[in-house]
Amino acid sequence: MRTRKFGSGRRREVWPDHRLIERHPRVCVLALARDGGTVAGVVTTLRWTNGFVATIRAEPTRLIIETADRRQMVALDPKRCGFLVRAGMLCPACSRRCVHLIENGGIFSCRLCCGLDHSSRHVHRRRWSALGRIAKLRGKIKADPSPLSPLPPRPRWNTAAAKYDRVAAEIERQEAILIGRGSQWTKS
Ligand SMILES: [Zn+2]
Repeated sequence: MRTRKFGSGRRREVWPDHRLIERHPRVCVLALARDGGTVAGVVTTLRWTNGFVATIRAEPTRLIIETADRRQMVALDPKRCGFLVRAGMLCPACSRRCVHLIENGGIFSCRLCCGLDHSSRHVHRRRWSALGRIAKLRGKIKADPSPLSPLPPRPRWNTAAAKYDRVAAEIERQEAILIGRGSQWTKS
């Protein structure tokens, strides 16, 4: 029997765990300022659960972040909001004002420069792509795009009926996978 492939054949890249921001050490200037770590002369040592250690020395206009093998200068950029002063930093790579600097490969930079992304943007990706795939298959036989909704009647013509059977079987298979995944999620 001949097997047919469905879909466009393009595979979307699955975002690996090590490229999630949450997996990397991060310096928050607001937290640092709250603990007095942005006052000139103060030295703060940050230790992350993965064993990464960084020492942050505050100078009047900048922070010096030192790790085992690197030393980075980060300009401070406080912003006055009424009576309050909100701490900020300039990303050493792009000079964009930011609150967080994320470590990647020993270098601290902003969210846009570090090449990492938030996990919240990737957790459901697999599920969404499955839904999209089902909607596309359902479109081929002019069925309602939502999963598990009833399919239109089987065509009488041989070629159309053969296509219908093939697509319907694939829809059934994909929907079974989706249901299986859904029940896994609700358990956890
Ligand atoms: Zn940047």
